[in-house]
Amino acid sequence: MYYSKNENDFISTIDELKQYISLTPKEEVQLRKVIQRHPMLISKFYLSLIDLSDPKDPLRKMVVPSIEELDLSGSYDTSDESKHTKFSGLQHKYGQTALVLSTNRCASYCRFCFRKRLVGLDSREIIGNFSHAADYIQDHPEINNVLISGGDPLMLQTDVIEQFLELLAPIAHLEFIRFGTKVPVYYPKRILQDDALISLLDDYTHNKIRIYFVTQIDHPREITDELKKIAKMLLEAGIIINNQTVLMRRINDDPDVLAELMRTLVSIGINPYYLFQCRPVKRVKKHFQIPLSVGYPIVEKAKAQLDGHSKRFRFVMSHKKGKIEILGIKDNEMFFKFHQAKDERNAGLFFSRKLNPAATWLDDLNNSKKIY
Ligand code: SF4
Repeated sequence: MYYSKNENDFISTIDELKQYISLTPKEEVQLRKVIQRHPMLISKFYLSLIDLSDPKDPLRKMVVPSIEELDLSGSYDTSDESKHTKFSGLQHKYGQTALVLSTNRCASYCRFCFRKRLVGLDSREIIGNFSHAADYIQDHPEINNVLISGGDPLMLQTDVIEQFLELLAPIAHLEFIRFGTKVPVYYPKRILQDDALISLLDDYTHNKIRIYFVTQIDHPREITDELKKIAKMLLEAGIIINNQTVLMRRINDDPDVLAELMRTLVSIGINPYYLFQCRPVKRVKKHFQIPLSVGYPIVEKAKAQLDGHSKRFRFVMSHKKGKIEILGIKDNEMFFKFHQAKDERNAGLFFSRKLNPAATWLDDLNNSKKIY
């Protein structure tokens, strides 16, 4: 079922990690503890992009475990995914979209993952039988698109991906399918060496149902020659690529870095789609989150450097109540708007909250004030 990756292309133990970076004995003990709870997997390709002599290297921070992951503040389910799960592996939060958790594996494990509770771990949250998902979607005509996520669906074998497409394409009310993936960044060879995958996507998107890729690229240094090649192959196959980025402390919380990222993405045919406020996930919150009051001006300064096309992304919180866009700060108030609402009464709602400079999530802001 899984793409048969070459195990030599990855590292997953602290002993292997020590061959690349130096750890103090204390760090070593603590990191062993961290990865017992949340496994480590790093592709050697991605390791080759890291400046191993620099402990502050942003790419290193994204995949190498940290003792800051011992901090347990936050939650493992910040978006109420359990509440929207109809059965294992199928979530239905917004009317038009079904979300399938197709696997618990990825080509490397991001230390900031909001599904940290399941990636690389035995999990009952993964779909057991994809045809059940297809049956559910068939029975819900309000669903016009499916997001196949995980984990990373591109870590599944091409014939498994084909089975998904075979089951979904005939559903008349489905208009498009999205694959959420970071494989082009972590393990480009998975795509570059599989002509059958590209032909499959080409055939489906041109003849059966429109396919989109939703990549996750968080730093300009992740835009490698290999990634550029993949973008070109996908675009030539007719796949539209949208990108999501997570705003993270000491990774990309810099206007110049963000602007360079968005500009470079556009130059290779990838559309900046969402910039996510990092979620208050256990073992992630302390390590990666920055306050909204700090993040907002960074995003605005980045946008000031960008042309209209490159700044079409929205800066949002993926909250229990929906996708909430962070619109601005004025006179000690923060302004928000529902971009996607779980409760349709909130659709498009514009509102403000009293500014709390330390707040990193909507729940840290009190005194809700409805404007319209
Ligand atoms: S690739 Fe996606 S699902 Fe996998 S660890 Fe990273 S953020 Fe999580």
